[in-house]
Amino acid sequence: MSSLAIDKSKSRVVIIGAGIGGLTAGALLAHRGYNVLILDQALVPGGCASTFKRQGFTFDVGATQVAGLESGGIHHRIFSELAIDLPEATPCDPACAVYLPGEVTPINVWRDPEKWQAERQRQFPGSEPFWQLMATLFAASWEFQGRDPVLPPRNLWDLWQLTQAVRPSTLITVPFTLFTVGDALRLCGLGNDRRLRTFLDLQLKLYSQVNAEETALLYAATALSVSQLPQGLFHLQGSMQVLSDRLVEALERDGGKLLMRHTVEQIKVENGKATALVIRNQKTGEVWTEATDHVVANVAVQNLVQLLGEQAPSGYKHRVEKLPQASGAFVVYLGVDDSAIPPECPPHLQFLYDANGPIGENNSLFVSVSHPGDGRAPDGKSTIIASSFVDPTPWWLTDNYPLLKQKYTEEAIARLAQYFYLKPETIIHQEAATPRTFAHYTARDRGIVGGIGQRIPTFGPFGFANRTPINHLWLVGDSTHPGEGTAGVSYSALTVVRQIEALK
Ligand SMILES: Cc1cc2nc3c(=O)[nH]c(=O)nc-3n(C[C@H](O)[C@H](O)[C@H](O)COP(=O)(O)OP(=O)(O)OC[C@H]3O[C@@H](n4cnc5c(N)ncnc54)[C@H](O)[C@@H]3O)c2cc1C
Repeated sequence: MSSLAIDKSKSRVVIIGAGIGGLTAGALLAHRGYNVLILDQALVPGGCASTFKRQGFTFDVGATQVAGLESGGIHHRIFSELAIDLPEATPCDPACAVYLPGEVTPINVWRDPEKWQAERQRQFPGSEPFWQLMATLFAASWEFQGRDPVLPPRNLWDLWQLTQAVRPSTLITVPFTLFTVGDALRLCGLGNDRRLRTFLDLQLKLYSQVNAEETALLYAATALSVSQLPQGLFHLQGSMQVLSDRLVEALERDGGKLLMRHTVEQIKVENGKATALVIRNQKTGEVWTEATDHVVANVAVQNLVQLLGEQAPSGYKHRVEKLPQASGAFVVYLGVDDSAIPPECPPHLQFLYDANGPIGENNSLFVSVSHPGDGRAPDGKSTIIASSFVDPTPWWLTDNYPLLKQKYTEEAIARLAQYFYLKPETIIHQEAATPRTFAHYTARDRGIVGGIGQRIPTFGPFGFANRTPINHLWLVGDSTHPGEGTAGVSYSALTVVRQIEALK
């Protein structure tokens, strides 16, 4: 059905949050005839995948690389259904150039599978059995995910969707469900390969929040394989904002509505069913209760529990409280003269400084560099964005927040200066974001980012479901399967849309 008008027989859906998860769910529901209202407390949509502008530079707040743009990829599928153009993008090749401590030549994660195989065989001799196991698990998991399983299932319909996605080829993954990457390394006789493990720790932390020892193997198989063809990571032309802007366009074209600077303060529940939201207009201070048939919460699961307050089911609340501490992020945004960028600089780099130090806390930095004509910097200038995972707690306990922020900023810039030419004369703009900044701009509890962590007890079949224990209350975003990233939260949005439609 082409739904340029709202189908009166379909329900009203109010969505908390215009992150990629909320916008994708909203745009799809509006396109399928639902009456959609999205509320976001921020100034611009996109959440962790939005942007801000300073002195002619455009900085991507968090996400800088996009998966799922290839034909059949999740963004491609959703944009096709919405009949909107996919953002223009260039493939990331290498997806990442990884510098281990003391090394001057990077490990290049090439886009071409054969080139990547040659690189890893040279970098990690004897590791091929591990990579072959990953390739086998990835092939099966990717096909399975492409058939839109509902994970974890919470009722018969979910279970049916899950079983429909299973094929004999999927069964090869089953014995590995409880394996971590650490287990697989030992299985392949690579348990003591420090260099390989350090590389995996670094890369996996980006996608799963945790190191190789803890990351669920089936999750890692996908995270470590999507950078190669026929999938791949992409750098959007213009900025990350394009993704959100296109989704907003589709939403509004199909009769949906987006209200920015509107905070949802409470989800109201009656007889076990979400029925309304308490909303505050930040500009006018007006507070009102909005009745709805469905609530889609595009928030971290920790925020969901807060929005439910006393009405949160005790088991659910307890499970959320017992989750391991999630990571926050510390990000430095630099607008620089092109003379700061070394020749042939890859667009995405990862550095580890001290082999014995933590992955994060500025000891490792993930760096994205703009390239000429990509819309992020004026001619002759570039942006450098460097992020590191941090423990959010000290950022809230410190009695001298500005000093802590300054210390982290100086430390990050000093580390970046080992690669880039960073001097007062080449840095035009400098700014940093801490867990407090993320809490302010994205409303995420304590500024935590990237979901709940892909450990065995919280990934896929054992994670938080989109279907919450409260009827007609749906959770969408990086706390749910298949996890963080704009592609991940788009799958999550698609699942919720299908679950709502199935109630018709
Ligand atoms: C530093 C960093 C780097 C990253 N790099 C990448 C990358 O390269 N590639 C990638 O794919 N992913 C990356 N990610 C992860 C990715 O950005 C996120 O997983 C994804 O964007 C999360 O989307 P979401 O829709 O779940 O939630 P969010 O982006 O958190 O959006 C939630 C929205 O809800 C709003 N909101 C919350 N509570 C309320 C409320 N009570 N009332 C009203 N509005 C509310 C917020 O304002 C926000 O706009 C990165 C993340 C970070 C932090």
